[in-house]
Amino acid sequence: MLNYLESSTRDNGFYAFILTSAVIGASLFQGVEFHYVYSHFLQFALGATVFCVVLSVYLYMRSLKAPRNDLSPASSGNAVYDFFIGRELNPRIGTFDLKYFCELRPGLIGWVVINLVMLLAEMKIQDRAIPSLAMILVNSFQLLYVVDALWNEEALLTTMDIIHDGFGFMLAFGDLVWVPFIYSFQAFYLVSHPNEVSWPMASLIIVLKLCGYVIFRGANSQKNAFRKNPSDPKLAHLKTIHTSTGKNLLVSGWWGFVRHPNYLGDLIMALAWSLPCGFNHILPYFYVIYFTMLLVHREARDEYHCKKKYGVAWEKYCQRVPYRIFPYIY
Ligand code: NDP
Repeated sequence: MLNYLESSTRDNGFYAFILTSAVIGASLFQGVEFHYVYSHFLQFALGATVFCVVLSVYLYMRSLKAPRNDLSPASSGNAVYDFFIGRELNPRIGTFDLKYFCELRPGLIGWVVINLVMLLAEMKIQDRAIPSLAMILVNSFQLLYVVDALWNEEALLTTMDIIHDGFGFMLAFGDLVWVPFIYSFQAFYLVSHPNEVSWPMASLIIVLKLCGYVIFRGANSQKNAFRKNPSDPKLAHLKTIHTSTGKNLLVSGWWGFVRHPNYLGDLIMALAWSLPCGFNHILPYFYVIYFTMLLVHREARDEYHCKKKYGVAWEKYCQRVPYRIFPYIY
């Protein structure tokens, strides 16, 4: 299936980002008032939510006509659950893959555009000539995350969202509402809650962010390269376990450190995004708390599927790599 997806999907998310940036830059140059998005934030979020409900109903209805082979392994036959998790794995209109398109582009690009709106709102409301250091850190960190995801768009093809879950309300809402409107919360918070960050503190936060990024990118790229070409000479130094499915599991390198090194890196970065907001309120830390719960639950789901898929080989892997996400803790 991976080969089929690879040959039929277009990895041009990064170019979509460049095009959007050019349009935003031109609009700013023409004096378009972006403050409107800040002052009507709730209305935009509500509009996106209504769109997702309509899209999910469409996805469910069309899945009723889909051939059995096109259904997601996560679908259960229960209408409510399937509406939520998605019944059809990769719904398409002609060659246009709806899930692949929605996974990164509208949500991630929308997220950084909203962050920019918050940066401009901060300057306007707080009467600043330049944005605060806290706002610059939040914007730059999250911009790096988004650009990295779009640059490595192809790595999406080996994630659970693409290979296991269908396209239903969960992913539609997550991709099109939750990511752009909730993940931009730190920038939103800073507009009305200024926080001065000293340079030594900023340096520590930058180091934390970079550590998280190195783990996150290293782990995701290593697994992606291994799944694409298990005999890649660059990965020849890594130890593997053979499984009865014919696929191997990495047991050294990042994947020998903990069983989900990519989640560990992601969580470290999430903490670095919240710290510029200071410690006066718990709300900027909502993302780290929610994301920890999401990834712990996601890890349990993945563990269940891998155990079913790989049986004894998976148990061997768990013995050799005992910690799930946090070394010596969990
Ligand atoms: P992973 O990319 O971790 O994929 C899990 C799969 O990897 C398993 O099902 C298995 O599939 C394979 N795998 C597991 N262990 C090994 C091993 N030792 N060797 C080789 N293959 C292995 O999961 P996700 O899709 O959950 O996450 C992808 C990225 O997206 C992560 O970095 C995560 O942090 C991020 N993410 C971000 C979110 C956000 O909101 N910002 C939300 C969710 C995820 P198989 O063997 O079949 O290939």
